[in-house]
Order: sequence, then C-alpha cells, then structure tokens
Amino acid sequence: MAVFNPQQIKQLQEHAKLSRGHFSKAQLSDLRKQLDCNLESLLKALLPVAATFSQAPISHFNVGAVAYDKISGDAYLGANLEFSHQALSLVVHAEQSAINNAWLNGAKEISAMAITDAPCGYCRQFMNELSTAQALNIMLPSLNTQLSTLLPSAFGPQELDNSERLLASSEAQITSLSSEISESLKFHLQSAYAPYSKNISAVEICTVSSGRFYGRYAENAAYSPSLSPMQSALSQLALAGLTLEQAEVSRITLVQSEGFENQKAVAEAVLDSYGLDLQVEYITAKYV
Ligand SMILES: [Zn+2]
Repeated sequence: MAVFNPQQIKQLQEHAKLSRGHFSKAQLSDLRKQLDCNLESLLKALLPVAATFSQAPISHFNVGAVAYDKISGDAYLGANLEFSHQALSLVVHAEQSAINNAWLNGAKEISAMAITDAPCGYCRQFMNELSTAQALNIMLPSLNTQLSTLLPSAFGPQELDNSERLLASSEAQITSLSSEISESLKFHLQSAYAPYSKNISAVEICTVSSGRFYGRYAENAAYSPSLSPMQSALSQLALAGLTLEQAEVSRITLVQSEGFENQKAVAEAVLDSYGLDLQVEYITAKYV
C-alpha cells in the first residue's frame, strides 16, 4: 500500500494550506513518482493529509476525502467541519467539503471520491446529485466500489423533474443587484446550484491577510443534504488551515435571490457558533 511518511504528510499539509486543498495534475504526477504508485493509490495516500483539515469539536472524528476531476486531472481535498453549540444537521461532511472545493475551483466531472471511512447515507445522497453519480467510483481504504452500489433505488433530481445536475448546471443570468459586489462573488453567484428553492445564493468572506473565500449554495433533491453558501465558504476557510477566529475577517457578504431568500438563519447559526459577533451584509439579486 502506498503511504506517505509523517514528514511527507506535514509537507503536503503545508502545500495544501496554500493551495486550499488543490493538487494539480502535474503535482499528482510528481507524487505518484515519489510513491511509485497508480492514481487510485495516490488518492488514498492523500487521505491522511485531507483529514488534517478536519475541525471536529463535537465528534473528534476526523474525516478526510479527495475528489478527483477527470477533465482537469486535478484533485481536491475535503474534511469535516463541525459547529459547536449548533444543530448537528449543520455539520459539513468531508465528502461535501471535497466536492464543494472541486466545484468552486471549476471541476466539471468528478469521477472518483476517495474517503477515509464509508460514506454516511447523507453523503451518498449528496453525491447522487452530481452529474457523474451513475458512474462515480468510491475508494475506501479497504474497498473500491461505486455510488450506484452503495445507493440502490436512489431518489434523485429526476424524481423532481430536474434536468440540472451539480457541477453541470446552467449559469444564472443576474439582471440586477441591490448593492455592488465583487466580480468574483458575482461569478460564484451565477454558478450556484439551487434548482429546488430558486434561491441562487453565494457568500464572500474577506480577511485581512489571508485573501477572500467564496461559497455557493448546492442544493439536493432530498433537500436535507443541501450545502448552504455560508457552510461552503467556511469549509474553504478550513481547507486553508484556518479557523474563523484566525482568519481576521473584515467583511462577510451574502447574496440571495429576491423573493426566494432562505439563507439568513443558517448563515447566522453557523457564524454564532464561533462567538465572534460578525456582521453579515445581505444583498439581493434578481436573475433570469
Ligand atoms: Zn457523511
């Protein structure tokens, strides 16, 4: 079995902090040479690196995941993110974190997910929203299987007559905004996936010295495993090795769609868990 030693894991963790959990095709190729292994073994070998980004104050159970984008040949880390003193339903699971990371960075076709532990039912359902769900390979430390095997007789977007899929949805055309936003936030807003509630929504977290972090709304046909834009952005912050306390936040902006707003409560709930009294600027958008 291909494994990185503790020193290599530390080095890869430092790299991942800077790249926010992104490994390019060229970097993966170099790492495969280092370990003399195939891609599948490398993705599994990166799992301990992914798990170092877990923030699990409730369970103390660190989960790591790696999403592989077949089109770019790049890989994206993910880790679970828990919020103290908030409902457990707000937790970001590692599989969600990795898929979210890949999606925010432009991945179009996730063909494989490596995970430290068997995916829970919630994550099986979340992954079923992907455009690649039917052929998605699931790589566990001691088992390779497919999502379709782990989630037979699945309930998915087709049951709700939704022809869109996560990572393969059409962009919303924003026609007006209640206040100006950055071009990057606008880009992420247009790319949000909200076929069920119609609340095209995205978040920008500006920090003093660690750059900007973005999150997009990713809905699910079963509704509950949907990932809110604030959870999405906070997961990205965690993959940079930061907690919200460390990030020195200067501004948080949440854009929602006029008439369909549904994100204020969840955004404030997850932020409240940090006890930092952060204010959110709410902006509404119209789109066609
Ligand atoms: Zn899960």
